[in-house]
Amino acid sequence: MSKLNIDGIGMTSQRARDRLIDVLMQKGIKDKEVLRVLRKLPRHLFMDEALASRSYENTALPIGHGQTISQPYIVARMTELLIEKGTPTKVLEVGTGSGYQAATLGALVKELHTVEIIEPLYRSSRDLLYSLGFRNIRTHLSDGSWGWKANAPYDAIIVTAAPNEIPSTLLDQLAINGRMVIPVGKQKGAQSLQVITRESTDSFKTEEHEAVQFVPLV
Ligand code: SAH
Repeated sequence: MSKLNIDGIGMTSQRARDRLIDVLMQKGIKDKEVLRVLRKLPRHLFMDEALASRSYENTALPIGHGQTISQPYIVARMTELLIEKGTPTKVLEVGTGSGYQAATLGALVKELHTVEIIEPLYRSSRDLLYSLGFRNIRTHLSDGSWGWKANAPYDAIIVTAAPNEIPSTLLDQLAINGRMVIPVGKQKGAQSLQVITRESTDSFKTEEHEAVQFVPLV
């Protein structure tokens, strides 16, 4: 497991982040590594300065282009589910957005590939992740519903926008014993957080977790 040293970055809002961590623990987040990373990660840098005063509230916020930075609880929960059975080495994220989820994973795993479809978001998250010192995160501008085949298979895949149904190309890019964390369901209907485990070439196990609300996977 590679360890980017994120101690010491973004110290300015440490008290606000400590309060956020208390909220996440109250809401049931238990993974110590996830809490350690989120306690350090400067979420205020992943959004517009005009909204930065709200950056340590446990809420999703707009990042432009009709998209949102995920709620911290959801980032924590999806990360916790992804690493629950052991920390994966090579991970694919679909939907880079602000880059906050990518940074969380980048601090925990050896190699992260993340794919974004909206060019300005791809550019700004790429530049921010680089300036924060991440060298193990590869950003790609592409339609992530096709995954990122060049580096497949992945030990884990995380999707941060919701499809109606899980794209089979993503399932194909999951390694045997790999895990995928993905919100599934219609926009106006109920979406649920699902964890898919690939048990063999053509057998997948699905667990359904809590109800969630994500922007659509386009
Ligand atoms: N992980 C992000 C959440 C961003 S919201 C964060 O931490 O901030 C979901 C993102 O998925 C948006 O940026 C949206 O543009 C992107 N997205 C939607 N459909 C996509 C697709 N087919 N391929 C790649 N990215 C997609």
